[in-house]
Amino acid sequence: MLELSGIAVSPGVAIGKALILDREGYRITRTEISPEDSEAECERLDQAIRQAISLLDQRCAQTTRTAGSQVGAIFAAHQQFLLDPVVRSEWDRLIRVEHVSAEYAVSTVLNRFAQAFRQFGSDMLAERVEDIRDVERTLLEALGGQPVALPGQLEEPSILLSHDLTPSETAQLDPQTVLGFCTESGGPGGHTAIVARGMDLPAIVAVGPFLHRIGKDSLVVLDGYHGKVLIDPRPDILRRYEEEILLRRDRSLQLGKMRSLPAKTRDGRRIALFANIEFPAEATLGLERGAEGIGLYRTEFLFLGRSQPPEEQEQYEVYRDVVERAQGKPVVMRTLDLGADKVNAGLPMLAESNPVLGLRSIRFSLRYPDLLRSQLRAMLRAAAHGPVRIMFPMVTTLEEWRRARAIVDEVMGELERAGWRAAVPIELGMMLEVPAAILLLDKFAPVADFFSIGTNDLIQYTMAVDRSNEWVADLYAPFDPAVLRLIRRAVEVAEAHRVPISVCGEMSSSPATAALLIGLGIENLSAPPSALPDVKQAIRHLRHADCRQVAERALEQSTASEVRRSVQEFLQESAPELLQHEVLPR
Ligand code: PEP
Ligand code: MG
Repeated sequence: MLELSGIAVSPGVAIGKALILDREGYRITRTEISPEDSEAECERLDQAIRQAISLLDQRCAQTTRTAGSQVGAIFAAHQQFLLDPVVRSEWDRLIRVEHVSAEYAVSTVLNRFAQAFRQFGSDMLAERVEDIRDVERTLLEALGGQPVALPGQLEEPSILLSHDLTPSETAQLDPQTVLGFCTESGGPGGHTAIVARGMDLPAIVAVGPFLHRIGKDSLVVLDGYHGKVLIDPRPDILRRYEEEILLRRDRSLQLGKMRSLPAKTRDGRRIALFANIEFPAEATLGLERGAEGIGLYRTEFLFLGRSQPPEEQEQYEVYRDVVERAQGKPVVMRTLDLGADKVNAGLPMLAESNPVLGLRSIRFSLRYPDLLRSQLRAMLRAAAHGPVRIMFPMVTTLEEWRRARAIVDEVMGELERAGWRAAVPIELGMMLEVPAAILLLDKFAPVADFFSIGTNDLIQYTMAVDRSNEWVADLYAPFDPAVLRLIRRAVEVAEAHRVPISVCGEMSSSPATAALLIGLGIENLSAPPSALPDVKQAIRHLRHADCRQVAERALEQSTASEVRRSVQEFLQESAPELLQHEVLPR
């Protein structure tokens, strides 16, 4: 058995035969043409570009239908790349001056871009390499051939193993036969990952070189929850994964049946479950998995990986898509949360030495108020089609809140004068991610309509630990009593002022931490669609009184490991079935 690990970018477990797509070494050989043929060759390239653009139109329409308009927009961005005058003049120059074939010119220029992107040393640019490869393959296909064809009709369910996979190729996979994929290269924010999530296809990227170690008839287990790939697994491990697939299938069937049943603890405490989404298609998935609405829509994902931010009209269309998919259930739209690790949105970002503590989130939006205004206009226009709540991320001071609110009032006034009406009155809320805001929460409570705790950032800012720095990962501890005390304090202040409070950070997604949150008094959880079945099942297994007891004990404990241990003991005693497949967070 060979065990490999990479970055899990799309959850799910799949087992299938290895389907190897090995084309890393593929290069277009240099073919010279005679100088008098160069005009005709440029013409041929012209025609191929037109054909590629119409091919991308089809891809855009097809993926918009299957995975949502934001995934479709990836291919619209590829069209822009094909029309870029700088790229075009480089292709023409090679054909006219060096007298080479259009294929060679296309491949050479795009390879140079890909290399430059890789060498910048930024993950974000490296992730765009797959888009360049995609443009290259589409154009080579239009010029009359495809480097290495994707698998056609497959006889057996398979797991695709490849050096890379472009977003177009991912969109063309048939999920009936390709059950998941794993690539040597790629990154979590890449478009291939985004398309995979939109298609609900388990995927792992950035495994490093491994294809040469795989035999043709190997059996592959892909664990898209933990980023593990097992080649020719030992029989006992294979059996465990087969059971896990059945169990998960069974669980989602059960949830399908429970869908309309409330998430209620055994002693009758009703918990509302909402979905966290990045893309419109996930709203549908969330509702299918029992969500009562969208608790966090991370709108910045519409901005990432683009050379220009989307115009108001495009934003409106995407936000409206989410509202319509939510079918009358509430949608909490978060304003742009750019900065820190979310950059590359076609906007001016400063070179900050400490971006996590810098111009990010609401600070960024207030620094560029026109951008915020156009986003708010788009959100408010979408709110004419269903219940929308607007939420500001990372609010630290009351002044920030007042400035943001004043902009909302101004934009709303403009729209009202033009005849706009919201489907239901707009509520404005804030995320609690910075300890300073929780310490002064009694000052925010009279002016905010709702609070939502972003535990991912709250842990980061409470423990003074960069959430994406592996060297200090052991300090990133959801079970730390300091974090729990802040959450408890937030709940107390919110309750005293009757302001609804929820949690939308990752602590909502695992049964163990969700149990603690419920014990701390949280009645409203928002988690990714994939986590909802497990969380709902946990709620229905537990008693609120027990959760409360374990949370009270945790508030008095001294370290994260003490809390973790007592939560584990509690689950072992009261609901051992929950621990079977649950990996407790650190
Ligand atoms: C959080 O910080 O918990 C949160 C939900 O926001 P994000 O993960 O998008 O920063
Ligand atoms: Mg956050």
